[in-house]
This record gives sequence, C-alpha cells and structure tokens, in this order.
Amino acid sequence: MRYKEVDAKHILTRSSLPDADYVINPYVGCEFGCSYCYASFMGRTVGESIDAWGSYVYVKRNAVELLESDLAALKDRKATILISSVTDPYQGAEARYRLTRGILEVLAADGYPGEVGILTKSSLVARDIDIIKRLPRPDVGMTITTTDDELGRFLEVRASATGARLDALKRLHDAGLRPYAFVGPLLPHFRHRPELLDELLGRIAGSGVREVYVEQINLKPYIRGRLWERIKMERPEMLAMYEEAGGEAHRREMDAMVGRLLEKHSLRLRLGEVLYHPEWMNRRRDTV
Ligand code: SF4
Repeated sequence: MRYKEVDAKHILTRSSLPDADYVINPYVGCEFGCSYCYASFMGRTVGESIDAWGSYVYVKRNAVELLESDLAALKDRKATILISSVTDPYQGAEARYRLTRGILEVLAADGYPGEVGILTKSSLVARDIDIIKRLPRPDVGMTITTTDDELGRFLEVRASATGARLDALKRLHDAGLRPYAFVGPLLPHFRHRPELLDELLGRIAGSGVREVYVEQINLKPYIRGRLWERIKMERPEMLAMYEEAGGEAHRREMDAMVGRLLEKHSLRLRLGEVLYHPEWMNRRRDTV
C-alpha cells in the first residue's frame, strides 16, 4: 500500500447525493479496494489509473484544520454532511492518521446542528462511539453485502469481515445510536440463492438495526471493466450471473425479493425503494 500525505484546499464539498448537502472525504483512494467500487474514477484527480484503485491512499493531512475554517464559513447550519462518499473514513490509514476522528471532534465541539452521516465498511468506527454520541444528529451506517467471508474477501479485499461489521453495528446500537445498514451492491447471485439474502438481512436485524438502504449493483462501463477482469481471473463461474444483473427482469425480481425479506425481518427500507442506476439499466438489453 502506498501512502502519500498531501495538503488539500477544502474539505467540505458540495454534494449532489440525494441525502447529503456536503461530503467530507479525508482520503483520496481506499485500501479496501472493492472490486465493484464506483469511486475508482477518483484516481484521475491524483494521477492514478482506475486499475491502481486499492493500492494507494492520499492522506489529506490538513483535513481537520480545513474543516474548522470551512465550517466557520458555512452559512446553512442545517446542511447534511456525509463522511465519506468516495473513500472509506475508517480504512486502515485512519487507525494511524485519525483524520475522521479529528473531523468528528471539530463537528462535536462546534455542536454542529445538522445531520452528520458516517458510512463505512470497517469495525474501526466503534472506536469513535464516544465522539459520535456528542453530535446532535448523528446517522451512522455500515455497508454489509454478504455473510460469506470468502466472497467478501474477493469483492471487498481488505474491508472488515462480516462478523466484525455486525459486532460494530451492535455496539453502535447498544450505545443508543440507531445505526442503519447499507446493503449495496445487492449481489447478483442472491437472485438464484434467496436464502443467502434472507440470512444476511436476518443477521442485520439481529444486530439491532431497524433501517436499511438497499442498492442494485452499479455496472457502469468503467466499473464493469475492472470487475469483469477480476471475476474472469478468480471467479469465472460468477460471470454469467453478473452479466445478467443489468437487466430490468433482474431488477424487478430482486426488488420483489427484497420487499418480502425486509417485511419478514421487520426492517424499514430508507427512501422507500431499492436504489438503482438507470443510466446503466437503460443501456442494457434484458438477457432473460
Ligand atoms: S470501501 Fe467504499 S470507497 Fe472503499 S473501495 Fe470499497 S466501495 Fe470503494
């Protein structure tokens, strides 16, 4: 893993995401290196190729000081801030650099009244429960896509194992933080093995979580290129299932399955629908 310390110009960035007005990304790059990561395009901002995603991390060493000035200049004190959108705020580098912790300290000391979202795939988030509890409106989420750790190691190379993520969710829940789970991407093989999605949602509910986001897999060309490459090399038997995942029939079937299973486990679907990426869906002919 290559780490490079850099100075950023701003840290609070305007966002077009449906549920975030601003985002904070303390790092460029992500050592978790997920095969399906849509953020791999971020490499171009630091001169790295899409294929190098997961092998470098640019550390914005002045992130905490920048937030103090960016926050002082922020007029809309109710704006929703998400940490992070194109990196994981609790990847390995965070154990050493503690930028996310510093950022939360600034927001907590400020008493920032808007919602502060945190989304991660790392159990390290539990380290900061003390500070997160001091935020007026925290909203903490954990991404969990599978209970199969072998598959998880292939798709989400260096992220925490599922058990560790579920333990962290339980700790967040027990601390009174009402965390949510983000089930995305919705892995295509669930269409043929619904019992595995049943198990995943059952274990999420067992951790105390009551709300989830669910998102269909994003297969934009630059994501597909990198993902297909890895599947062909390491899991060629999976390719057909992933190729059919862009079609409308796949989407409809998976949406219905998600609806049934969420009801079974008494989980509420945030935003009221399974999220998907129409620009990819519309470009692809149904294969079934
Ligand atoms: S944890 Fe998130 S940002 Fe990091 S590689 Fe995986 S999908 Fe991308």
